[in-house]
Amino acid sequence: MLSVEEARARCEAAGPAPRLEEVGLDEALGRVLARDLDCPGLLPPWDNSAMDGYALRAADTCGEEGGDCCDEARVPGADPGVALRVLETIPAGGVGRHEVVPGTCARIMTGAPLPRGADAVVMREDTELLPGSPEAVLVRGRAAPGQHIRRAGSELGPGDRLLSAGSLLGPGAVGLLAGAGLARVPVWARPRVAVIGTGDELVAPGLPLGPGQIHASNSQALCGWIEQAGGLAIDCGVAPDTLAGTVEAFGRALAAKPDLLISTGGVSVGDFDFVKEAFSSLGVDLDFWKVRMKPGKPLAFGHIGAVPIFGLPGNPVSCQVNFLQFVRPVLRRAAGDPRPYLPVLPVRVLDGFGKRPGRAELVRLCLRLAEDGSLEGRTTGDQGSGQGSSMAWAQGLALLGVESEGFKAGERVPTQIFDWSFAARAADPTPWGAG
Ligand code: AMP
Ligand code: MG
Repeated sequence: MLSVEEARARCEAAGPAPRLEEVGLDEALGRVLARDLDCPGLLPPWDNSAMDGYALRAADTCGEEGGDCCDEARVPGADPGVALRVLETIPAGGVGRHEVVPGTCARIMTGAPLPRGADAVVMREDTELLPGSPEAVLVRGRAAPGQHIRRAGSELGPGDRLLSAGSLLGPGAVGLLAGAGLARVPVWARPRVAVIGTGDELVAPGLPLGPGQIHASNSQALCGWIEQAGGLAIDCGVAPDTLAGTVEAFGRALAAKPDLLISTGGVSVGDFDFVKEAFSSLGVDLDFWKVRMKPGKPLAFGHIGAVPIFGLPGNPVSCQVNFLQFVRPVLRRAAGDPRPYLPVLPVRVLDGFGKRPGRAELVRLCLRLAEDGSLEGRTTGDQGSGQGSSMAWAQGLALLGVESEGFKAGERVPTQIFDWSFAARAADPTPWGAG
């Protein structure tokens, strides 16, 4: 039987290469950038005001004590300050028509281009409109040359790196690309992942259960994990427990031209498990079908042509845990992610767990941040592979090696984290969330 590490390496070696595509920014969120992108021009494109206020010559202003500002601008008997004639108002999107010469200024809005002759901006709060005509303003205090001016290219210039290949495009990155004027970007395509359920006992949620029936849940969970990992899930329905029905479902799924194909259930040694047989009648190259781990020992992996096929187990926990260990890294690599693995961090466990040596084991943990910011975890309770509730309540999987005999309360255990929402819940009055 293969170790988890060997099985994962074999899956990844057979994974599809990422596909390049160019998309509009509205489709770029969550994608991995395929090429380095440099700034095409100056950011900002011209000198502009960082404030609503007045663009003026710093030399025209004076400090509290009067100073050496231009004498004709002084206001006898008023607050220390200078009166400057207002030449015009420049809104964002406008352009000044006059040069600011000694004794004058331009009213300017945030983001408007700095007019010729001005070398500083004083914010409106430090000024006072003077009565009379022509319009004049009293400017208090001394302005330093360059104050409240955003210089052309002060953020980025032509050829400066905006984002490197391999960057995950979040909202900030998409905003940066838009600000640089780029409307389309080269990214890696979302891998198409076809999902097949199997089992005569399965009934769609919302329909009443007959004797011996349960509601199908794995396809929904898998489609969710696929979408969350950046894939495009294609739900190909549920196959009946017959060889012909299973083969037909695989045919249907392959017709959807997936990059990866996943089935769930029917992969073990039961009388009605037809996935392995369906693999052979379809000519699937079976690579392996068992992994030394718990949950999720049965895992059939092979490929048909260039399409990797994963036969995941039917038990809801085994199915999802196997997806995270074996399918997700392949999917992330196919999505162009140079860091395809979930993070593994030490977690101090607050309860113990006993295990027999022989198989690797993944234990569902509810996580929280301790006072000092370190991670604490508690098992979700019974680790039965049919208890899908544990996957809904857990945020991480404690990784126990083949020889491990479990852990005691207080130990630090390496834990694969698949949900970080607990970090934002630090102030939640229910410390363990829904679990
Ligand atoms: P199997 O691997 O087909 O023997 O299934 C193992 C267990 O998982 C059985 O209890 C099945 O009823 C259950 N199971 C299989 N497929 C699903 C599914 N899509 N949703 C929920 N439970 C399932
Ligand atoms: Mg079954």
